[in-house]
Amino acid sequence: MQDLLESVDALWRRVSHTFEELGLDGIDSDQELAWRVSHVASALSAARAVLTEPGVAEPLARFAVASLAREAASELVALGLIDDLATINLPARPTLELAHAALEAPRSWSLGAELDLARETFARFATEVVEPYASRVHRSNLDVPEPVIEGLAALGGFGLTIPERYGGSGTGESTDVLAMLVATEELSRASLGIGGSLITRPEIIARALLAGGTEEQRATYLPALASGEIMGAVAVTEPDYGSDVASIATRGVVDGDSILLRGVKTWCTFAGRAELLAVLVRTEPDPALRHRGLSLVLVDKPRCSGHSFELDLGGGRLVGRAIDTLGYRGMHSFELSFDDVRVERSKLVGGDAGRGRGFYLQMSGFENGRLQTVARAIGLMEAALDAAHGYAAHRRVFGHRLLDYSLSVYKLARMAGVVAAARALAYRNAADVGTRGGSLAASMAKAWACRQAEWVTREAMQLHGGMGYAEEYPVSRDFVHARVLSIFEGSDETLSLRVVARALATQPRVAG
Ligand SMILES: Cc1cc2nc3c(=O)[nH]c(=O)nc-3n(C[C@H](O)[C@H](O)[C@H](O)COP(=O)(O)OP(=O)(O)OC[C@H]3O[C@@H](n4cnc5c(N)ncnc54)[C@H](O)[C@@H]3O)c2cc1C
Repeated sequence: MQDLLESVDALWRRVSHTFEELGLDGIDSDQELAWRVSHVASALSAARAVLTEPGVAEPLARFAVASLAREAASELVALGLIDDLATINLPARPTLELAHAALEAPRSWSLGAELDLARETFARFATEVVEPYASRVHRSNLDVPEPVIEGLAALGGFGLTIPERYGGSGTGESTDVLAMLVATEELSRASLGIGGSLITRPEIIARALLAGGTEEQRATYLPALASGEIMGAVAVTEPDYGSDVASIATRGVVDGDSILLRGVKTWCTFAGRAELLAVLVRTEPDPALRHRGLSLVLVDKPRCSGHSFELDLGGGRLVGRAIDTLGYRGMHSFELSFDDVRVERSKLVGGDAGRGRGFYLQMSGFENGRLQTVARAIGLMEAALDAAHGYAAHRRVFGHRLLDYSLSVYKLARMAGVVAAARALAYRNAADVGTRGGSLAASMAKAWACRQAEWVTREAMQLHGGMGYAEEYPVSRDFVHARVLSIFEGSDETLSLRVVARALATQPRVAG
């Protein structure tokens, strides 16, 4: 394995050198180069993770790294950043024998007895409770079924990283994040829309409250979120500002003992069913303050079902309308219009000391959300790979099983390698959540895994031939679901250019 590590490190040195040369100005003036090299960097960190993470089956690691390193090298050649491949000592092209071994190897590994039990428990729940609803909710655009929410609450699924003193099962160790990742993988395997993504919102809100909420806010909301007594939703995006969060315009006018909310938010997922909205607003009107003028406000609301609602709230009106989407159905994503909705000033996260800190609190929540999104991608890829493998084992084409063709084996082996690499990346970064390095690592992992999920689900669909395009086959749903992952929780371009490229241009580091 040492030879593979040396190849990865040699490629990494080229990437590092490119970012040093580009500098911060170069990232803006040559975005295309910066974006593509940023993706190479993320792929190399995945390759390094799958090689070094204990527990990964050797054939899987070998196959994954040989594929990823060769693809990284060819991208660097295409960009004119390497002209002599001989200097890199690339790994050999994987043999068919290695592809078979990689495909047969286990794709997950033990994380210790407790986490293995957690995986088993959430896997059973996903198969027995979530999966039977998944197709119906997706195809008929229904609400998340209440038995799914109740069952997940009973398993403690909403409180995995919330500290025990606030009603969750979190111990403050990295195993909390690992438990959240494992649960998310298994739930997303059954459904992204009504499974793994249910955990995202309490994760984000809880992280923000723990980072900057008052003791009273934590004591009020964290136990209710952890137990599933209330559902939450996060309202950041606006019609005119999505990636550019610092520019949002929805006002939170501080008026004596209350705050008046005015403006329009969009894409607020689960806003109908949620009893709590975490809304990012501009409390300090001076435009020069940019992100330092934003605050996070908690809005209590009654639970609503369906695709629209209109509420008299705090003397004003809150109107929600679900946006019709390709997938990610069940929770529904709403456009929200706040028309002078008045909330108590005590709902400002962090109290008066939290004024102007909303951007930072929101971002601390998103970091956990990004790693959780890697786990969502893993669950989706697992489902697509299992479906494609099963289908290829039975489908006969030109008199032979699809699985007897070497192309199918290579495709499936690469899928398996990607799943293992994404897992290795997610697990190794679990311990760093909340640190500066952790934020970069989570962004790289998210950018890489979400793009790979598109490839994996595409090839899984392709292996199904025409039936892959039929709604009755879950792989068609997996394909649609994978597409959204690179858009939300930090879009691919925002993460690659504004987080990954910038960090690598200013603080060179080793791969992964
Ligand atoms: C299904 C779904 C659920 C969602 N749920 C929520 C939610 O619960 N809460 C919430 O607040 N938001 C949510 N979002 C919104 C999501 O976070 C935004 O869509 C995302 O941040 C991108 O913002 P935007 O749509 O305004 O795109 P824009 O910001 O307009 O970006 C358009 C394109 O430009 C690219 N781009 C951005 N900056 C640059 C740059 N500097 N250089 C080059 N290209 C750039 C982007 O990557 C993107 O490809 C959800 C979105 C979807 C689709």
